[in-house]
Amino acid sequence: MGIRQTKGRGRRYDSVLEAVGDTPAIRINRIAPGHVTVYVKFEAFNPGGSVKDRLALNIIEAAEREGRLKPGQTVVEATSGNTGIGLAMVCAAKGYPLVVTMAESFSVERRKLMRFLGAKVVLTPKELKGYGMYTKAKELAEANGWFLASQFETKDNADIHEATTAREIMADFEGERLDYFVSGYGTGGTVAGVGRVLRRERPETKIILTEPANAALVGSGYVNTRNAEGQPTEGHPAFNPHPIQGWTPDFIPLVLQEALDGGYYDELLPVPGPEGIAWSRRLAAEEGIFTGISGGATFAVAMKVAETAPQGSVILAMLPDTGERYLSTPLFEGIAEGMTEEEQALSASTPYGQMAAV
Ligand code: PMP
Repeated sequence: MGIRQTKGRGRRYDSVLEAVGDTPAIRINRIAPGHVTVYVKFEAFNPGGSVKDRLALNIIEAAEREGRLKPGQTVVEATSGNTGIGLAMVCAAKGYPLVVTMAESFSVERRKLMRFLGAKVVLTPKELKGYGMYTKAKELAEANGWFLASQFETKDNADIHEATTAREIMADFEGERLDYFVSGYGTGGTVAGVGRVLRRERPETKIILTEPANAALVGSGYVNTRNAEGQPTEGHPAFNPHPIQGWTPDFIPLVLQEALDGGYYDELLPVPGPEGIAWSRRLAAEEGIFTGISGGATFAVAMKVAETAPQGSVILAMLPDTGERYLSTPLFEGIAEGMTEEEQALSASTPYGQMAAV
């Protein structure tokens, strides 16, 4: 094998926003069982580091196209982080002020990233959960005449996954097998948008939906009440706090409801948070693929699917974001700052620059 050569993307970009999407589907080579082929769609390649760049861009551009967002108008949204980071990137590039409301329980990296990208972050008490940060965003929008991004209700969410995420999958697997597509949900935009296209164009592909085992909202069968705008009017009784940030808020969003009503999944497989963490670590340490907890959880379910999948099956798992925004979370628990015993022994094994225990 000669030296790796590259030749550029064959184009120049007029803005960072043109670099959103077209993420790679990457084969797993070491940790997947041999009777199947597993790919991951690695959304960390988006410029803001997550799948939510797609939705952020479309929420703003659809509102611009339809005159719902005025030049210089402040944008406000409740977000567990990735939508906020995506919106902050888009608003910075286009010159809109952004205010994000976020429960204090989400990782500190997320707050700092948004502030670094120029947004204001208003924290809400963790006891009030997702519904609390959401109500705060609504209140601020109404009180100030701001543009509420409404990721949980807007059609601009699933539409962009239909127009980009799904098209990329169609193109990358054209003429090839694709037996299973695995995804969790936050707003449900990914599964609704990709589901529309798979059902229409690849009906043989089984869609596997997943959610945290201790917050199995869809599995409970109970649908929370909503107002005329589709916004939840109560927290969901099956919700419990879970470590899979970005997944399953404490209500079933309207955007996800389309996927439930439309039968856009063949199987619902819950996953315990610790399994997500374990598989995220294995993806990093054994495949070099650095994704967050939701990516690990989606991959955990892909591995479960693989156990019973027929020989030769092809599985695609969504990896929604990069692991870098989880340094302060349980994902990194036990990752030492100082030298481990093994590292100290290495340090002591040659004479130069030895360090005592740190
Ligand atoms: N994983 C992470 C880390 C996320 O931030 C999100 C979006 N909140 C998702 C998964 C789920 O994506 P979607 O909103 O399209 O269902």
